[in-house]
Amino acid sequence: MSNLETSLQTPPKRLDLTAGYDVERVRQAFPILAETIYGKPLIYLDSAATSQKPQAVIDAMSRFFLKENANVHRGVHFLSVRATEEYEKARAKVQRFLNAEHVEEIVFVRGTTEAINLVAQTLGKTQVHAGDEVLISAMEHHSNIVPWQMLCEQTGAHLRVAPIDDAGELLLDELERLIGPRTRLVAVAHVSNVLGTINPIQRIVELAHARGARVLVDGAQAAPHLRLDVRALGCDFYALSGHKMYGPTGVGVLYGRRELLEAMPPYQGGGDMILSVSFEKTLYNKPPYRFEAGTPNMAGAIGLGAAIDFLGELGAEAIAAHEQTVLSYAQQALAAVPGLRLIGTAPEKVGVLSFVLDGIHPHDIGTVLDREGIAIRTGHHCAQPLMQRFGLAATARASLGCYSTEQDIDALVTGLAKVRELFQ
Ligand code: PMP
Repeated sequence: MSNLETSLQTPPKRLDLTAGYDVERVRQAFPILAETIYGKPLIYLDSAATSQKPQAVIDAMSRFFLKENANVHRGVHFLSVRATEEYEKARAKVQRFLNAEHVEEIVFVRGTTEAINLVAQTLGKTQVHAGDEVLISAMEHHSNIVPWQMLCEQTGAHLRVAPIDDAGELLLDELERLIGPRTRLVAVAHVSNVLGTINPIQRIVELAHARGARVLVDGAQAAPHLRLDVRALGCDFYALSGHKMYGPTGVGVLYGRRELLEAMPPYQGGGDMILSVSFEKTLYNKPPYRFEAGTPNMAGAIGLGAAIDFLGELGAEAIAAHEQTVLSYAQQALAAVPGLRLIGTAPEKVGVLSFVLDGIHPHDIGTVLDREGIAIRTGHHCAQPLMQRFGLAATARASLGCYSTEQDIDALVTGLAKVRELFQ
């Protein structure tokens, strides 16, 4: 066996969680959490914007560049074959992660945004016509609004919006009422990036399918927190981003039911998405390759595969149980802060805590907390219509990950006391 082959067989370092979910051990897997900011320990409460990366993901990507890098699907040489194997192994990991029936249902894309645009510009453009309707919800991220608006402008279709209540829950009766004979597509977030609300996707799929509409689920905020099962959900499409689920940026996934992907025209033209090309006629490749024009993000896909392994080692249920404990602690602690109002109080939610403080601009909150080493998000969170629904221009948002602790929340509460001292 060559040195290269031997080194490629060295298994990546594993996280030992045999003693149960020990958040300190989980934290040790994330080198960046040992950083100090302005001389203070980093308190990272911005995982909904992007999660931090465990060593195993960093190692898998370095390993690829150090030992395996070559272009996929093209060469006959050793490294190209190896890179292709690793890239396709990552696809199979995503298939298992989503419990998709077929590996061909997994399309690698840049992220959730690209996945949604892909569906809008392929299935949307061919199956949505003037007078048809696309239904979204009032809690969508801009990336699950704008691609549908663009499609509606291009086709003459209409965008409909299902409302939510003051707690941030979808009004299912209203949603049902809005699914009519012209509804071609329902596109809805699994989990809201502002409110944390977990939407009842199975029920939404039942309602939509009963009227012949397809369902796309924006899973960007669900993938790091929930066990996913596209077959149990019954959805037609599911979109996610690697960087929200402890994987790298620049890679994400579109899951699509096989028969739908097979009927869809290509999104972009280029290498790899073809069977044959002549100046007279090009024959397109089958899914998923039809939708992966050009050299893909190979290291990204492999890093995403490592992130999926990491999530599997922790266990979706164990992560959810841990995060729910920290979430309850945070909800109580923040409710006790004078003048603080939580936005998003649905009973079924993940660890996303949006809030406003009486008379203090969210950006001021974020700036003061930053000097304490605390990273939160402030602004409209790419959900301006949702902000309008709550009569706000912006909120502050603390969001949790598998590494978040009650001490992080204590630091946040202490930081907020400082904010109030300075601004009130
Ligand atoms: N949908 C939701 C609910 C999100 O939170 C995000 C990212 N903030 C996106 C879509 C877009 O994801 P990306 O920027 O990774 O494409």
